[in-house]
Amino acid sequence: MFDEVKKKLSELEGVTKVQIDLELDENGYFDRKCPASDCGAAFKVNFEDWKNIVRDEEVFCPICRHAAEATEWNTLEQLEYIKNFAFSHFQRELAPAFEADARNFNRSQTSKSFIKISLTYKPGNIAIPVPASALEILTQEYTCERCSCSYASLGGAFFCPACGHNSAFDSITNSIETVRKTLVAIPAIRATLQENLDKNAAEDSVRHIYENGLVKIVSAFQRFAEACFKRLSNAASFKVRKNLFQNLKESDELWRAATGTGYTELLDLEEYSCLSLYFQQRHLLAHLDGIVDQAYIDKSGDNRFSVGQRLVISEAGVSDLADITSKLCLELKRLT
Ligand SMILES: [Zn+2]
Ligand SMILES: [Zn+2]
Repeated sequence: MFDEVKKKLSELEGVTKVQIDLELDENGYFDRKCPASDCGAAFKVNFEDWKNIVRDEEVFCPICRHAAEATEWNTLEQLEYIKNFAFSHFQRELAPAFEADARNFNRSQTSKSFIKISLTYKPGNIAIPVPASALEILTQEYTCERCSCSYASLGGAFFCPACGHNSAFDSITNSIETVRKTLVAIPAIRATLQENLDKNAAEDSVRHIYENGLVKIVSAFQRFAEACFKRLSNAASFKVRKNLFQNLKESDELWRAATGTGYTELLDLEEYSCLSLYFQQRHLLAHLDGIVDQAYIDKSGDNRFSVGQRLVISEAGVSDLADITSKLCLELKRLT
């Protein structure tokens, strides 16, 4: 009884390709989402580069470097859009066949039948595809130094989606930039938190953001210094123990031994002693939840706190750390 529908379906079988135009943002960037379940990072790729540079077989997540085929990176909105588009497309294609079948069926019923079955086909509302809404405007844009693919992400990105390349210098610059932008956004973040939580919880979260900023910059610096040191032509002649770059004094000596220039030649005394303090604070935050111990006071000379107190990380401190680290990284890059 569904002859027309069957006919139409077999016609459609050979034509499975339907072009779907997905929305780009105003800069021609294409929303993407990492398919790794514990990452799910949102990012964007310049659409021309997505077509011309990114390969179908392998795309990398800029945040976690998960690799998957090019078809796996749709955002939830895009998946929804594609589903709705496909649904309304087939609904449109099949509607006339359903109507014809219903007419034929009704015609075949004789008026003498005891039971009269009538079939009507009511076309449902054609599903209107919802355009993929643009994700929050992502302001950090990158161009890969190796393959020149342009991409953007909310916060710092580490790997090129097209070739997976990681630039140590870009990574540290991005991490610092992210922390700086977060500091600028603190009043807005605080206001939103106060609206949705209570005042205390909002302050707690803001304190967390400052601590996070400090830890993030120090960790990013360590990674950068390590990668940068490896690029020295004589790097192989130095034995570098694990986590050496977590120790400012030791790594300062290492740089001096390898290049003749240490941190104290690249920074002024005030900057270097502030940097040492921030390194000690990171250690305390990472290992003792920020509770001050005697070792911290001895090593940092920070007398503002006594043993058992908890560190207070200020916005000015994080911002100062961002400035000093930027300067030092630029200088270290020159040494390599
Ligand atoms: Zn990822
Ligand atoms: Zn690349």
